[in-house]
Amino acid sequence: MPDTLVRAIGAYANIRCIAAVTTDLVEEARARHDTYPTATVALGRALTGGILLGGLLQGEERINLQINGRGPLRSIVVDADAFGHVRGFVRHPHIQVPLREGKISVKEAIGAGTLQVLKIQANQKEPYRGIVPLVSGEIAKDLTSYLVNSEQIPSAVALGVYIEGNNRVTASGGFIVQALPGAQDKDISIVEENISALPPCSEMILNGMGPRDIIMQVMNGIMIKFLEEKEISFQCRCSKERVVRIMIALGAAEIRDILAKEGEAKALCEFCKRDYVVTGDELRQLLEDIES
Ligand SMILES: [Zn+2]
Repeated sequence: MPDTLVRAIGAYANIRCIAAVTTDLVEEARARHDTYPTATVALGRALTGGILLGGLLQGEERINLQINGRGPLRSIVVDADAFGHVRGFVRHPHIQVPLREGKISVKEAIGAGTLQVLKIQANQKEPYRGIVPLVSGEIAKDLTSYLVNSEQIPSAVALGVYIEGNNRVTASGGFIVQALPGAQDKDISIVEENISALPPCSEMILNGMGPRDIIMQVMNGIMIKFLEEKEISFQCRCSKERVVRIMIALGAAEIRDILAKEGEAKALCEFCKRDYVVTGDELRQLLEDIES
């Protein structure tokens, strides 16, 4: 089954839930960035959080998450849109952090720091920016803290990534549930009880549950309506055209300098690790275009 995201809302439109299975896209990120287990789990959770928040956006809006910490991982950057595309990277993919009670400690890898969320809207000059201190470093609780404190929406977030011994991601996903204005205390209590009884997301997905099944567990006892189901994937926004645009922005003097020193220009996309080369001929053509 391909990675999918499902959105649902309570019958009275005051509790919403969005869930996603992200196993393939997190495995793709692991392979692209050659992350070791701790970084794989950290990046996988952040990518899943990003795609879930992206699922709450509309049209051309985008969301960017940046986690900056004092731990060995340093930072995670994730970028998602409303169409089910997400990309991301960690600063140090090869860190090794000792297990805590047999478990990977993302908290230790990230350390104390901040979570910054940027919401980029097509018609707005300045993106919406929210920044909160990390409250747990395990990412799900930090996203919850952002939603509650910065967006002021009572929310719960669960994220899970399961990796097999050889590093392969075999289950990944998560959900966000939110109480919107007018939500009944009774319904909120039902959801809270459901969540506290749930096994970890990675376990549910490992057992074959999809986003709909997860939503039905979270919202069990509440009438719900499914709104949307879509495929999601790791997809970067980089392209040769973008690299060329950056070269043009550098200006003629800089391009001449690169030509003299390197003979060609190379660029590596941090988000997807794709390599780009602008050949000497292409650079000379750019110079001609700039100067004409
Ligand atoms: Zn890229």
